Amino acid sequence: MKYISTRGNAPELNFEDVIITGLAADGGLYVPETWPQLSPDQIRSFASMPYCDVAYEVMMPFVDGAIEDNVFKDIIAEAYAGFSHPAVVPLKEMRPNEWILEIFHGPTFAFKDVALQVLGRLIDHVLEKRDERATIVVATSGDTGGAAIEAFRGCSHADVFVIYPHERVSEVQRRQMTTASEDNVYNIALKGTFDDCQALVKAMFNHSAFRDNLKLSGVNSINWARIMAQIVYYFTSASSLGAPDRLVRFCVPTGNFGDIYAGYAAGKMGLSIDKLTIATNMNDILERVVRTGRYEVLGVTPTASPSMDIQVSSNFERLLFDAHGRDSESIVRLMSSLSKSGAFTIGPEALRNINDDFDAVRTEEEETLKTIADVYASSGVMIDPHTAVALAGSRCDNQNDNIANIILSTAHPAKFPDAVEKATGHKPHMPPELSALFDLSERFSVLPNDLETIEGFIEANARANRSN
Ligand SMILES: *Cc1c(COP(=O)(O)O)cnc(C)c1O
Repeated sequence: MKYISTRGNAPELNFEDVIITGLAADGGLYVPETWPQLSPDQIRSFASMPYCDVAYEVMMPFVDGAIEDNVFKDIIAEAYAGFSHPAVVPLKEMRPNEWILEIFHGPTFAFKDVALQVLGRLIDHVLEKRDERATIVVATSGDTGGAAIEAFRGCSHADVFVIYPHERVSEVQRRQMTTASEDNVYNIALKGTFDDCQALVKAMFNHSAFRDNLKLSGVNSINWARIMAQIVYYFTSASSLGAPDRLVRFCVPTGNFGDIYAGYAAGKMGLSIDKLTIATNMNDILERVVRTGRYEVLGVTPTASPSMDIQVSSNFERLLFDAHGRDSESIVRLMSSLSKSGAFTIGPEALRNINDDFDAVRTEEEETLKTIADVYASSGVMIDPHTAVALAGSRCDNQNDNIANIILSTAHPAKFPDAVEKATGHKPHMPPELSALFDLSERFSVLPNDLETIEGFIEANARANRSN
């Protein structure tokens, strides 16, 4: 399997290089050159298979021999051994034809573990084999940072620098990052928004001397392996509800468009999906673009679902690439308009292509809290605010048919205890792993939103820096 850049001006890579490289040298994102196809019989067979076996079958065509089969199988088994639920990603029925898919049973209680537990092991394996050291830089709206630290803490081949927006993440999220005591972990609390964090990471990748000197590697969802590992649960959940003989619809709380793009990839690989619904909070750039074709960056408003407080949604570029018939010149044009004027407009044909696969809904803050309260009152189940944004969106989009509605439940309610308590009047039960964080000391550096300062901080600390 070859990987190509959405902007058409970076070398084609194999799987091993694509996971180490992260962002393409032309500023684009890597995508597989073709979509592997799974047959209806194969998809049907997933219903009775353990999660790790399905994971192997879905991901194997993307790895395509770049990692030995037995090594890859071990990586999958180890990655999911740390999940607390035997089904790894259990489905919970809420009402007739409505299910939530709990993808948060990994070590940091948000779905980012599903991919990062695999990706961390893959990167470590490749670095070990090459006898190399890398510097991992991560922008996070809250959950990716903790999951990346969990995946790389103590790793002798990589230092990890997490950049999160200062005072815009929940206390649990912050403590999951800042209490890591390993000396290969650095936390930067940036005076800015998540979009600023992400822009800095992209700028560092586009600064070739810095990138090469520090051997930068990225584990944000710009990294193809993140998407790859998330495709799996679209297949496991749909097949266990009757696919390919029954249609499914997914509603996904969306920020950087990585998770829902994995659902789109599952569709490209042969899963019959009626619609993928993009659920946003008030930071609704994706809802607006799907409705109107105009992608326009407005200010970010902090909400109860901070992991979705995003305006510049990186992985949307991967969808745009397909929607424009994989014409990279169109993507270069749109992206240059975005960087010049903070906006672009999608032509009617490309927008039609997007609308064939996607719906979009925006959930207001009151509706999010009301949904948490309603679900608790009717079923005793506590859901987190991100899940609530999607559940509310799915319910308002609800159609009376026999299609199975699957809502992705992306975080454990205890990660956002204040919002849950505000909605239900009760504190969610704190798992001991999370309450233990409140007794540990924290380590982080508050830094200004300035590329030179951030690069200087990383240069001074990273062991991969040749001039150190
Ligand atoms: C990251 C995150 C999201 C958004 O996922 P994207 O892949 O960025 O669209 C939603 N909910 C939670 C809890 C998250 O951590």
